[in-house]
Formats: sequence, structure tokens, C-alpha cells
Amino acid sequence: MDPNVLHNISYGIYIVSSNKNEAINGQIANTVFQVASEPATIAVSINKENLTHEFMLSSSQFSVSILEENTPLNFIGLFGFRSGRTADKFKDIKFKKLSSGCPVVLDNTLGYIEARIVKKLDCGTHTLFVGEMTESAMVKAGKPMTYEYYHMIKRGTTPKSAPTFIKEELPGKKEGTMQKYRCVVCNYIYDPAAGDPDNGVQPGTPFEKIPDTWVCPVCGADKSQFVKEG
Ligand code: FE
Repeated sequence: MDPNVLHNISYGIYIVSSNKNEAINGQIANTVFQVASEPATIAVSINKENLTHEFMLSSSQFSVSILEENTPLNFIGLFGFRSGRTADKFKDIKFKKLSSGCPVVLDNTLGYIEARIVKKLDCGTHTLFVGEMTESAMVKAGKPMTYEYYHMIKRGTTPKSAPTFIKEELPGKKEGTMQKYRCVVCNYIYDPAAGDPDNGVQPGTPFEKIPDTWVCPVCGADKSQFVKEG
């Protein structure tokens, strides 16, 4: 078997949110898809260890915010590499609570869907939740981010808890002669040839020359959390 073939399956990048009474949480998910149209039904695969999973079991509902292509990496990092058990992910972002109490992330969002869970399928490490759409709205026009864009263009990484995590993608070896560094928190690779232009680090900047105020563009870890790669 060649697990790399799985890289050819296409996905998007979404924030799946839910609530447990008044408490709210959300997380990045790439496995969201529509499975039927009458009634409109969607499915999402969520890791059993995640707080959002616990909330979805509690409230039997969830929302999906569809992220736009130019969503900053650190926004994805906030929802993808932090746990709601230790951080309030909604503290500094724009969101609203729907009448059901389910939160919806509005920053970097093209539109959202809320669904009531009608079926659950145990998939070992994950649960596949199937929900019927109860509410939806467009937030703005734009291009949705695909997983490929996140991975190839934004050079974002995948946490081990993701349903589509493949060991072989970690850590990546690519062209280049300057020393690369890897974030031990999220496995983001700093490649001096590419730099981090979104955060003021020009291509060709060695890791040692990056200002100490720079943080991992994916998860926000500081420079001390980086180790030599390879
Ligand atoms: Fe990181």
C-alpha cells in the first residue's frame, strides 16, 4: 500500500464549532462535505479527544464556517493547534451565537452552516457526525481555501489529531541548502529560501537572523521552540 495516494484526495479548510450549554469551542477541520440535498445534509469527521467532539455529543449540533483563501496562517493555527481546554479561542475574534446557542466564527469566513446531528458513526480515533442543515448564510463573496492551497502555498501543517494526518508528511525534506528549522509544537518548517514574507521575513533570511519577536506563523510558538531540521 502507498499511503501517499491519499494526498490526492481534495479537501477544504473549515472551522467546526459547537457548544455545551453556555461554553463554546471550535476547531479546524478539513473533512466537511455535503452528503445529501433533500434535506440538506452534511458530514464531518472529528477526533474523539477534541473538546469540540465532547461539545457536539452534548448539544447534538455544530456549525461550519467556510474559510476564505487568504485566511492568515496564525488564525488557522489558533483554531487548529490550540485546545479549547487551555485557551479561549473566541476571545479576540468575531463570532456570533445562533438562536440554538451554537457559535459561528465570522472572521475570514465566506459563509456558515449550522446542523443538527442525526447520525454518528464510530471510526476508531474519530467520529463521523452527520447533520441536517438548520441554518445557513453567506457572509461575503470570495474564494474558499482548499487544503492543497493551505499546504502547498501557505505551507501550513496538519496536527496528528486530524483525520487525514499521514506520518510520511512529517518532517518534510525539500530542496535548498540553508539550514531549515522545525517548530516542535506544530511541525511547521521554516525554510530560509522562502522566508516568511507575510510576517516581514524576506526570502533568504537565515533562521539566526530572524528577529526574536518573530513567532511561528502557524501556532504562535516563539523561536526557542524551533529545532534544526534534518
Ligand atoms: Fe508552530
